[in-house]
Amino acid sequence: MSSTRDIDNLIELMAKLPGLGPRSARRAVLHLIRKRALLLTPLADQISVVAETARECLNCGNVGTADICDICESEKRATGELCVVEDVADLWAMERAGVFKGRYHVLGGTLSALDGVGPDDLRIPRLRDRVASEGITEVILALNATVDGQTTAHYIAEQLDGQVRLTSLAQGVPIGGELDYLDDGTITAALRARKEL
Ligand SMILES: [Zn+2]
Repeated sequence: MSSTRDIDNLIELMAKLPGLGPRSARRAVLHLIRKRALLLTPLADQISVVAETARECLNCGNVGTADICDICESEKRATGELCVVEDVADLWAMERAGVFKGRYHVLGGTLSALDGVGPDDLRIPRLRDRVASEGITEVILALNATVDGQTTAHYIAEQLDGQVRLTSLAQGVPIGGELDYLDDGTITAALRARKEL
């Protein structure tokens, strides 16, 4: 048995993380081993904790450690505005910008004929329920400016037509750009200048 097998396994796992390839993974693992007490042990402990506690909010799909997330629980966020995003990373990007005071709905992807993703594979039925039951007055579609993102936005707009005010983020979100990659100022401008659908 190779004396480096455990470490090689760790490198292989780390290399699967977004943004890391084998080379960055090797550097990261070496760094962790050198900073065993300061970094490696606390990281390993925290990964175990999160592996036990992380879950999706049953209401909106946000990731947290409770069945219902803090945003859904907060009375202050019950403004009647619901911001629809594709992914939790987009929700977190909106929260970093700190400009939106309502609640969110995470679809969990986009409609895609090519990949066989239909409305029931996303949280679209749940979105309809929420609009009907939560006193929602405006749905803001903050979907990415990709073909699938826009197809999904049009589908949702059709589904909710006449039930609620529908808006989308202003242009300024780059084509193919994901919210997570935008700076806070751009997100804020795109939300403030949102347009009717
Ligand atoms: Zn939630």
